Amino acid sequence: MAISHIFAVLTLLTLAACKFPSGFRFGAATSAFQIEGAWLDEGKSPSVWDNLAHIEGYTADNMAPETGAESYYRYGEDIELMKKAGIKHYRLSISWPRIVSRGRVNSRVNMQAVEHYRKMFVAFRDAGITPYVTLFHGDLPIVLQIQDYAFTDLDFANNFVYYANVCFENFGDIVKHWFTLNEPWCTSVYEECEESEVGTLPYQIGHQLLIAHARAVKLYREKYQAKQGGKIGLVLNTDMFYPKNSAHANDVAAAERALDFALGWFAEPVFRGDYPISMRARLGDRLPRFSPEEQQLVKGSADFFAFNHYSSSLCEDGESKKCAGFWCDRNISTSYKSEWKTTDMGWAIVPEGLRDILVYIHKKYARDAKIPIMVAENGMANKEPTQKEAENDQKRIDYMKSYLANVELAASVDQVNVTAYFAWSLLDNFEWTAGFTKRFGLVRVELGDVPKRIPKKSFFWYRDFIAANSQ
Ligand code: BGC
Repeated sequence: MAISHIFAVLTLLTLAACKFPSGFRFGAATSAFQIEGAWLDEGKSPSVWDNLAHIEGYTADNMAPETGAESYYRYGEDIELMKKAGIKHYRLSISWPRIVSRGRVNSRVNMQAVEHYRKMFVAFRDAGITPYVTLFHGDLPIVLQIQDYAFTDLDFANNFVYYANVCFENFGDIVKHWFTLNEPWCTSVYEECEESEVGTLPYQIGHQLLIAHARAVKLYREKYQAKQGGKIGLVLNTDMFYPKNSAHANDVAAAERALDFALGWFAEPVFRGDYPISMRARLGDRLPRFSPEEQQLVKGSADFFAFNHYSSSLCEDGESKKCAGFWCDRNISTSYKSEWKTTDMGWAIVPEGLRDILVYIHKKYARDAKIPIMVAENGMANKEPTQKEAENDQKRIDYMKSYLANVELAASVDQVNVTAYFAWSLLDNFEWTAGFTKRFGLVRVELGDVPKRIPKKSFFWYRDFIAANSQ
């Protein structure tokens, strides 16, 4: 046997050492705003992020996403790449300002955009790729922000449900996995947070998001689920939080509280019916209360538990830095262990954190509800300024390998019902305020008039990993 063959067999054997549950889904994820480009084409209106990205100095490289992957026109290339890697599960989002460019309930539906997405979903189906679709991933139609204070406007849920209905109606025969919202925590804390005051705003935004999510779920369940046979939920986000010193009761409480202020804020209402006790204790009436009808609406409004996870932190009681708003309310100082390496985002690499948070979610939310858990995003950013550096992204392979090994341990050793893992991201994409200075892709996007997609080493590694671990 040639040396290269021996090497290939050995690689496959190491890859196959992990044992994922049968039917486990290995996927990749993106979001519309971060990859589509075409920001004013075919009837699309700008989103809040189109606006931000065009403000001089707002992004690290002064770039806006239309200089990126152009997947609005080039999704065929993305499909070809996924076919090559054996990626059969693709998480992506639909752009609200494309479908309902005026944003509001009862305003005109942009049929050109509807037809575009239908064509794209048909192409996925023809390629044997299952779409997992997020309805709102950061790109709020800016008209909503100008006319009103979008999230606290009492019409926010009506606007969102109207848009969601168009999506269910037009794509639900193909799309069987729906996520209403991506990371409502980020939207609540970062989007509109007035840092200077003792705030109510993040909690009001969070509340409206929960109601909007739950109303979209109700609509789907009542009008579409029986005939379309899909599943619906939302995507939360959390680090794993550990006590800095587990012998200190205060640190233990701080880590619990950090989990409540990150995950529990949204997971407790959805899976158990009310906000975490630790949040109520600290916030009192600044945290909204669910009316009995709202509680009934929100509780149980997810068919699965999906979350994004990248990193972990240590917690101590008391915010060390000068703080305001949400951070003061949480009142926790976070740090990293000195031996933890960090990614180019500055986030600690703690693979066992993924196993621990999976076990936490399993015990607290998923086991009794008998719902599956999905890792909806996980991945690593590198700066990768040159194509050469991108193509040899061994660090990303090490990151993914170690995080995936912990997903496997959670499933096989801890009996966690985790059914899917989506790598963030299929492509280098627009990383919000970082622009294109931090690259998350398995595939490099070489920016230019005609963006070029160049698979990185991690792309080929993931291809082999999927082949070796799918059963
Ligand atoms: C978001 C993505 C983002 C990724 C890396 C997640 O919070 O859903 O849009 O690119 O993290 O920052």
